This record gives sequence, structure tokens and C-alpha cells, in this order.
Amino acid sequence: MIIGMMIGMVFATLFGASIASADTLEIPQIGISIELPAEISNALASNPIAEIDRTLGQALPQGSKLPDIAQNVGDQLVATVQTLITGDALEAPVHEPTSQDASLSQQWEQAVSYYEPEVIQPDESQCVDGTIKQQVACATSRTNNWYEDQGIEQESTTILLPKYALGVWPFINDGQVSVCGMMPGMGPHHCDGLTMFEENDIHELLTSDNATTSVAIHESAHGLQEAAGLNPAIATLVGPAETIYSYEQGGDCLSGAYSASLSPEEGIAAYQRVYGIGIEGEKSHGSPSERGDAFLNGYYGGTGACNMYTPDHTVFPKVSTN
Ligand SMILES: [Zn+2]
Repeated sequence: MIIGMMIGMVFATLFGASIASADTLEIPQIGISIELPAEISNALASNPIAEIDRTLGQALPQGSKLPDIAQNVGDQLVATVQTLITGDALEAPVHEPTSQDASLSQQWEQAVSYYEPEVIQPDESQCVDGTIKQQVACATSRTNNWYEDQGIEQESTTILLPKYALGVWPFINDGQVSVCGMMPGMGPHHCDGLTMFEENDIHELLTSDNATTSVAIHESAHGLQEAAGLNPAIATLVGPAETIYSYEQGGDCLSGAYSASLSPEEGIAAYQRVYGIGIEGEKSHGSPSERGDAFLNGYYGGTGACNMYTPDHTVFPKVSTN
């Protein structure tokens, strides 16, 4: 039920409804209450998703804390949410079956391993260009070490999402209510102080420790933006495109600033990757040359140069590049 209501919020947010006061959504697990507009409450009352969530809601462990609450809601919900968001009916995802012969507790553990996000500890010894999980542990370590060098006090928490991880939860930043979430296929993203990678991310972005670190730094920039009172999650959900664009440019810029600490060859490779994922005419992350330019701005100007994208907020510390 709780998750159904939050998904209702995602739905409403995506379609531009504003959060006005009416009913209050209480979420005792995380100790907050949120005012919901009547149109959302009414929509939820007649929404089939609520029926599903009555069961799933009961399955949530009592006393769950974030990000534990954002877990294990199952194939049925994946399909429902994706259908809500995209309007397309989905085929049921391929499900790795739990063993029917196993004991109930073993089946539960098996199921959780498909759904439950895992916090990845920073670990330099995992920098062996290994599995996604090893690369993420390496990238987290390098991100934190570099932050320390830069005098950035914030530590980034990184979680790895297994195949079917799915969830949404409310995120309140600087008085603004938004939602954070995870679902298969979202790719690396950041929200609520969490940088999220997917185990499904066997794609062009995460090909080596260096490549994954570039992504981790970019994503962590969104965490610094949150800490400065900005809300990249809201911008991503409801726009406007120029606002998302400025935050994304800040992320690419920070990746560039980090890459200045690498060898020149590695720096060029990092530049080429950022340039290579730009899409001509794309408004939120930018074209190849726009992404490349933001990267170079940070590469040559250091972290402080990355504040130019958010002129009203100092997001990044000004560190001498000498
Ligand atoms: Zn980004």
C-alpha cells in the first residue's frame, strides 16, 4: 500500500500534477508524513496497483529503513509500474525460479538475492577490472579518496541493484517533496545520497575500473547538488530540460576534474567516453560536444569551475589546480 501510494506519486509527478495538501501519507517506517492532493488519493483508491500492494506492503519487514524499504516488490509490480510509465504492456520478465524443493527460508533468501540492493563498501583491492561489483567497489573507493583530496567532506554511498530490484520512496530535500527510485534498466543514477548501479549494467559505460569511476564521480556530483539544496530528482522527473541539463553538465564537469588526476592517456580515454555517449539534439544530458566541453571545463579548471552550471549555488569546492 505504501509503495503503491508512492508509485502513485511517481505517476502523478510524471504527468505533471503538483503536490498540494489534502490527505496525509504517513510512512512510519521512515518517520515522515507527506500531504497528498485529493486527486492522487482518489486515483489510488481505484487503482489496481493498490490491490497488489496490499499484499506486498504486508511483506515489508516491520521497521524497514531506507534503502531496505525499496526492495523485493516483484515481477508483477515491475510490469505494472513500467506499464503505467510507458503506457506499453510488458511481457513478464524472465524470472529465475526459486527452488521449490528448498525450505521456505531458503526460498526467501533466494528471492531476496534477486531483489535486494546491496551496499557496496569502498575497496581499493577490488581495482582489478573485474566484475561489475568489483568495479563498483573500486570506483567507490576512488571517488571517496579523490573527494578527500579535494576537501569534499561528503561520502558517497553506493548500492548495487540486483536483476529485479525495484522501488520508490519519498525524498524530501530543502522542503521539496520528490521521489527516488530504482527499476531494472534505469542504469546508473543518483538520488537521496545514493549512487545506484545495476548488476544488469553490462553495457558500454562500465567497461573498466576507470570507466566506472568516471560514472561514479558524475553520479556523486548529483549528491553534491542535493547537499547544496538543489533537487536533480525533481528536475529529472518533471523538468524543465534546461535545469536537468545544467545539473548533468555539472556532473560531466566533475568527471573531467577527477580525470585531471589520471595519466594523460587515461584522461583522453575518459574524455572520449563522455563525448561518445553524448547524443546530438538530446536536451537533458547534451550532445557529444556539449558533454565533452563540460568535461574539459572541469579537466582544466578543476572542481570550482563546475559551479558555472549552477550560478546560484556553490556545489563544488574551489580547489587550487596547481
Ligand atoms: Zn547525471
